[in-house]
Amino acid sequence: MIKIKYFDGILIEHNDETILIDPSRPTLINYVKHVLITHAHKDHVCREVEKARNCILTSFSKKVLEVRDDVYPRNATIVGTGNIIELDRCIVYAYNAGHIIGSLMYVIEFKDLRIGITGDFNLEDTIITQGSNLIDDIDILIVDSTYGHPKFQFPERSELYNEILSLVEKYYNTDVKIILRCNPLGKAQEVSMLLYRHGYLFLADSKVRKYNNLISSLKGRYGTSNIIITSTNHNIFSNCRNAIQIYLTGLEDKLLPIKKHTNFLKISLSNHNDFEKLVYFIDYCRPRRVYTIYGYSKSFSKYLRRQGWRASTLT
Ligand SMILES: [Zn+2]
Repeated sequence: MIKIKYFDGILIEHNDETILIDPSRPTLINYVKHVLITHAHKDHVCREVEKARNCILTSFSKKVLEVRDDVYPRNATIVGTGNIIELDRCIVYAYNAGHIIGSLMYVIEFKDLRIGITGDFNLEDTIITQGSNLIDDIDILIVDSTYGHPKFQFPERSELYNEILSLVEKYYNTDVKIILRCNPLGKAQEVSMLLYRHGYLFLADSKVRKYNNLISSLKGRYGTSNIIITSTNHNIFSNCRNAIQIYLTGLEDKLLPIKKHTNFLKISLSNHNDFEKLVYFIDYCRPRRVYTIYGYSKSFSKYLRRQGWRASTLT
């Protein structure tokens, strides 16, 4: 009998195999035989993976753990897109997740069933990552539902890039500061690559530089500029009259600390799928059972049930 639970990570127990995916806390690290990491965002990997009996992750995720957390997993199995790993009672297939550099989806194949785990994923190509693979022939799918509500519909990447570039073009080399605020791991490298490819110099805060330096084409590419890429939530520029703050996020406005600021803009650059793409993925995958996880998981499972899928939120 298969057991799938969320317990500070996705726990799968089946046929004497114990696998924990993306542990956010150490609770079950010592209990399981294998830990699978989809990507290195902090809510998907905790420091204690260092002690895991077998920690499966990409070399980029491993590098992030090293430079960010000073964590060196003792028993790491390095994987990449297209790799197949044989464990005692199952086979693990690694697919590209398209979320950030080094992000993977996994399919775990037991004798009697196949389980797909998307992790955070994005079907759309970006300037720095290829869109995620599609997976099929899956019995059980555990799907990232961060934006699993119809209110989330994001414009195409090219449109969002043009929006960023036209603002940059307008104010570049003026006395107006352009503050691009985003997650330091993922979107910061995407926007850095966008600026670099279009010939703009930029500054970046220390967190962003740490991750940019892991990518050879972005390493050390900073210069004096009025464009600043930052991940800080402090309003260090709020008293600066000549500053335009641009939040790069799919989040709703009400979740952003921006109300008091007039020179504020939001551009819906997200490295997750919007609602329509999530539905497309489910339709393609056609799993017998769906578990939704993260973000709008409740509303997404409700929507899927109404469409006739056997779906529930992973608890
Ligand atoms: Zn993530």
